Amino acid sequence: MRLRAGRPRSQGAASIAAARSCDILRAMTERKRRGRAERRLQARTEQRLTRELDRLARMQPGGAPDRPLVIDTPAVVELRAVARPCPLCGGSLRLKAHTAEVIEDVRLRVAAVACTACGSERSLYFRLEWPSLH
Ligand SMILES: [Zn+2]
Repeated sequence: MRLRAGRPRSQGAASIAAARSCDILRAMTERKRRGRAERRLQARTEQRLTRELDRLARMQPGGAPDRPLVIDTPAVVELRAVARPCPLCGGSLRLKAHTAEVIEDVRLRVAAVACTACGSERSLYFRLEWPSLH
């Protein structure tokens, strides 16, 4: 009786220990899983925010070919292009190229800029409007 009673007790202790380590493992896995999920969620939120900021930047004057900034001399293109901070992170912009393009029959100056902080690239559009002479 005593022996038979002892065996199940030790098995019980073993299984309790096993269950406990299993709980610890489960808790660790759960914590890891939650950490990953949180990181994923955070990454997704940041991506969404970046997309939204990018969309807003394109809606600003100069952000798209159909809403160019009006200038009276091409000399200001480069200054104006880097005057504003990066719309995504607030970093400063660096001019990569300044080109003259015709987009949908409109002659535009296009400044390609890149952010020195986050590396995002965008184009800013300018339309030359010579001052009237009368
Ligand atoms: Zn940036």
